[in-house]
Amino acid sequence: MFKPAGILLLGALLFGAGCATTSPLAEEPITSPPPSPGASSLNWSDPEAVPLTRPTHSKISPAAAGQSKRPPAALSKPAPVPVTTWTSLNRWAAERHLPAPRLISKTPLVSYQVRSDSGAMILALGSREANWNGMEILLGFEPQLIDGQVFLHSLDLQKNLEPLLSPPPLMFGPHPVIVIDPGHGGINAGTKSVRTGRGEKEFTLDWAKRLAPLLEAGGWQVFLTRTNDTDIALSNRVAFAEAHHADVFLSLHFNSAAPDTRQSGLETYSLTPAGMPSTLTRGYDDTWTQSFPNNAFDAENQALAARLHGALLHAAGEEDRGLRHARFLGVLRGQKRPAVLLEGGYLSNPAEAQRIEDPGFRQKLAEALAAALNLNAAAQSPRPESGGSAIEISRPTPP
Ligand SMILES: [Zn+2]
Repeated sequence: MFKPAGILLLGALLFGAGCATTSPLAEEPITSPPPSPGASSLNWSDPEAVPLTRPTHSKISPAAAGQSKRPPAALSKPAPVPVTTWTSLNRWAAERHLPAPRLISKTPLVSYQVRSDSGAMILALGSREANWNGMEILLGFEPQLIDGQVFLHSLDLQKNLEPLLSPPPLMFGPHPVIVIDPGHGGINAGTKSVRTGRGEKEFTLDWAKRLAPLLEAGGWQVFLTRTNDTDIALSNRVAFAEAHHADVFLSLHFNSAAPDTRQSGLETYSLTPAGMPSTLTRGYDDTWTQSFPNNAFDAENQALAARLHGALLHAAGEEDRGLRHARFLGVLRGQKRPAVLLEGGYLSNPAEAQRIEDPGFRQKLAEALAAALNLNAAAQSPRPESGGSAIEISRPTPP
């Protein structure tokens, strides 16, 4: 469940790897080296941290959702006063009327479990890898033991735990709009299959075209950022979602760790919340204080990512490489709606490439996403007072 801490040096290990080196990157030049996630030692007054506020996404009314779509104020300045950035997990759970966290393991890492009606989160001291209902969650900071009590960084509680343990309902109008973004296209082929040389762009487009009718049958209005083999700038993919008033944005990709042929599995990305280090930087600037329009949807992003990631793991049976945060993904930054980037497996791994090249596998991936987003199924659960459609995102499917 918990891998050695060495796997957390992802930025260094994975630099230059994966399909994201070509398209999902921000279209800005590299300006400065990122701060080291290793610098996240205990810090009671972290000038890099944003001022801590109570979560505002626990219940989103349509009006509130509209408000939240306004881009947040820039968080470019350090907090004006020192803020406490670490919170006792016991106290946090008690404030939410959750059972007290309990020690569940002493080896290989001391691990605690905290539960809600939505599921169970396992946290390990000294590790950024947590586990939510059987799937891996990458925290921003390692949990610490202070005076015999578990402390978490307040941003992890607010941005990583709260949206899962107390999930925000995603509420839409009667015919919600989803924009599906098949990664790459045209001269931007993405990564290539180690077996056949076929381009990632071909498989992402096919995945999207399989997903679209399934979502339409479920009540969605579906738009694809591209329907043929054309190269579209990342900024235009964001503008496309804006022009179509998208309620949800999904970017579809396949991964690469070339020349490593062993790495495999599924990864799901959302934009890093302001104040936290990213899971993955690929050497790009990762200034923690940066805030983007999509950061208004941190809670919804996390809940949506968990739901989709869990569904894909369950359907595909691939290795779980976790729910991750990245700040350099230009296709997510400007989105004024919940937005997630999915990596459906490694084309650099021969066995996984063979599965990805199988249309039946891509159909499975499409069906898993459609089932996770199916409005008709959600409509059978209690409806919100607004009369809009709601996707209950409280129970990601365990793998
Ligand atoms: Zn890609």
